[in-house]
Amino acid sequence: MNKPFLKAVPIIEKIEKAGHEAYFVGGAVRDFLLGKEIDDVDIATSALPDEIQSIFPKTVDVGIEHGTVLIIYEHESYEVTTFRTESEYENYRKPKEVHFVRSLLEDLKRRDFTMNAIAMTKNGEIIDPFHGQDAIKNKIIKTVGLPEERFREDALRMMRAIRFVSQLDFQLDEKTYESICQNQHLLQHISVERILVEFEKLLQGKSRKKALKLIADSDLYQWLPGLKDKKASLYSISEMNIEDLNLEEMWAILMIVMEVSNIPPFLKMWRMPGKKIKKIQSICKAYEMRKKERWSKKTLYQTGLSIALMAEHIFSIFEQKDPTNELNKITFIYHSLPIKHRSELSVNGNDLIQWENKKSGPWVKQRLELIEEAVINGIVQNEKEQIRKWLYS
Ligand code: ATP
Ligand code: MG
Repeated sequence: MNKPFLKAVPIIEKIEKAGHEAYFVGGAVRDFLLGKEIDDVDIATSALPDEIQSIFPKTVDVGIEHGTVLIIYEHESYEVTTFRTESEYENYRKPKEVHFVRSLLEDLKRRDFTMNAIAMTKNGEIIDPFHGQDAIKNKIIKTVGLPEERFREDALRMMRAIRFVSQLDFQLDEKTYESICQNQHLLQHISVERILVEFEKLLQGKSRKKALKLIADSDLYQWLPGLKDKKASLYSISEMNIEDLNLEEMWAILMIVMEVSNIPPFLKMWRMPGKKIKKIQSICKAYEMRKKERWSKKTLYQTGLSIALMAEHIFSIFEQKDPTNELNKITFIYHSLPIKHRSELSVNGNDLIQWENKKSGPWVKQRLELIEEAVINGIVQNEKEQIRKWLYS
């Protein structure tokens, strides 16, 4: 077993000492069996939330009604969740109420995919009633039980299936895929917030091209905000070299290929925070600029390095070129700019008013812009006296 698990073994021992069962479960066990790095481990237990709270002095209530208590132990936090079933699903969504049960098997049964329904004891023994290890070995994503039933219980699982394809480069089990195609319309009952979490994980996975194609093939795309008539765009994106793009670049390329003319209202439908929307919009604007002309000192100064790099990266994908050289060049030019911001200019409006002995007015701004451009282009040094001479001689 590796470190994150070993560090959490005392937690399981304490729960066992109090007379309950506890196991490692979920994504961490799956990723461990896949030989991947693990950051947080989840623990499932037969103990009820208040029993957990009485065993551990330091806990945070993160979702007691769902049976989850956060334990703070040796500067790490662990989610400990009581075995539960989610038997009564309403309107294809996760239920508001859960039922606590005392059996691990019941808990594993309510989990989404066989690879996610594996438990591990503190000694590293695997409990795998649904053959999740076979699924991992064969790289298959398969629902626990009948896909039909499981997607009707919680339609988000269809998005989860495809985001795991993207992250793990697995295949969908045939029946699971067929069922997604048949039940895609159920996704309309799921909140945008939950869909966004899965979609953004999908956008960042190593097999994002395959996943985006599946989103189109399965017709799930119709229920993603604003994507109803964007099937063709999804297919085009799924054929581009998008694997190295970060999340914001991915959103930007979606906006560009889907020809979204007014980006903020579109991304507001996804309930995205305003700051992120602005950034994605800036990348798209910078890309449009880059399409017209190469980067100059002035356009780099105006755009800022980080946005310019992202726009260039996207440009290189459309051009089917390796971006490395151009990205290095841009970085070099940017770092050699004498100033990075108006506030670094060594003269201000007051200097100009004094020098010219004139009243303030629109001329000040114009004059400052002139100086700014000259400084950026190295025509005059960013030094007060030099600027004065350059202006008046
Ligand atoms: P990641 O590494 O991305 O966190 P994960 O498998 O841990 O992947 P989570 O969303 O953190 O995914 O969920 C933890 C576990 O809870 C899953 O492994 C699965 O067993 C279960 N689970 C999560 N969401 C659902 C769902 N909608 N239906 C059934 N089981 C679920
Ligand atoms: Mg997780």
